[in-house]
Amino acid sequence: PKSEKENNSVAKIKVVVRKRPLNKKETARKEEDVVTVSGNSLTVHEPKLKVDLTAYVEKHEFCFDAVLDEDVSNDEVYRATIEPIIPIIFQRTKATCFAYGQTGSGKTFTMKPLPIRAVEDLMRLLRQPVYSNQRFKLWLSYFEIYGGKLFDLLSERKKLCMREDGRQQVCIVGLQEYEVSDVQLVKDFIEKGNAERSTGSTGANEESSRSHAILQLVVKKHVEVKETRRRNNDGNELPGKVVGKISFIDLAGSERGADTTDNDRQTRMEGAEINKSLLALKECIRALDNDQLHIPFRGSKLTEVLRDSFVGNSRTVMISCISPNAGSCEHTLNTLRYADRVK
Ligand code: ADP
Ligand code: MG
Repeated sequence: PKSEKENNSVAKIKVVVRKRPLNKKETARKEEDVVTVSGNSLTVHEPKLKVDLTAYVEKHEFCFDAVLDEDVSNDEVYRATIEPIIPIIFQRTKATCFAYGQTGSGKTFTMKPLPIRAVEDLMRLLRQPVYSNQRFKLWLSYFEIYGGKLFDLLSERKKLCMREDGRQQVCIVGLQEYEVSDVQLVKDFIEKGNAERSTGSTGANEESSRSHAILQLVVKKHVEVKETRRRNNDGNELPGKVVGKISFIDLAGSERGADTTDNDRQTRMEGAEINKSLLALKECIRALDNDQLHIPFRGSKLTEVLRDSFVGNSRTVMISCISPNAGSCEHTLNTLRYADRVK
């Protein structure tokens, strides 16, 4: 059937890289831009020193599904990543989109507009006769994983817990879901959640770089009240049957995974947790790509929470964000190597 064909035409895993422009600080410091983009590939020109201290440049070339240069707009990012997935969300697809990269590389800048554009498109589709008479509704939730624990970003950082229902379906107990009826509401939710995220429990601004923020849009089919007492196929006791889902994940700063030698015990533990979750994520995406039957979800809280998005009809988009400046070279190479392993 046509729908199936359409469904299959969207790549199961897509890895794109986005380079941000040099910022004012970097320009003022006269830092060099060491990343050049050409089509689907990019080159990092790493400045190095020989043992006799003469300078040279080592070139590293990478190729991805798409490479988005510094002049690419957020709207173009949307079109290259999420837009093709939107129609198949109504065909029982569960999609996940990750923003990966070091702190300051543009993850939040990239991620923030994506769910807003997705809601615009989803709502436009929902108004079409073919969907509007099927009683579909759109729901939104926003939570974070911090130090291996879950907090609701739209409910005063209420602590949440995860439950598995024996049928390998995850349920986040107590997570608030809000029905989405207009786009402005989504913008407000994102602002609210992001503010909650960046202040965190200690009020420190850098807190957000140590957490994964997960925004989920769920399309549900409304069912009669009597039926809601039963568990639907997705294992949720919710007013409606899950049709499709799309998760936007603003990952913790990738450099935080290296905090494992920090003097502060708390920081070390958080670093270890982040390291574990980014490794587990990589392993899960690789397993998906190889159509492995066993996906190693258990590796971390992040992958456990996303379990139902990795099985069945799933789509994964990885947006790897990189900084262009010479000073970030090492982190940039780490990010590109990670992306390279995933693709
Ligand atoms: P991260 O979330 O990875 O720590 P941010 O998204 O907060 O990074 O980006 C750091 C800074 O760089 C912000 O001030 C942001 O506005 C700016 N920035 C990031 N990406 C771009 C881009 N593609 N174009 C212009 N400015 C950008
Ligand atoms: Mg951020």
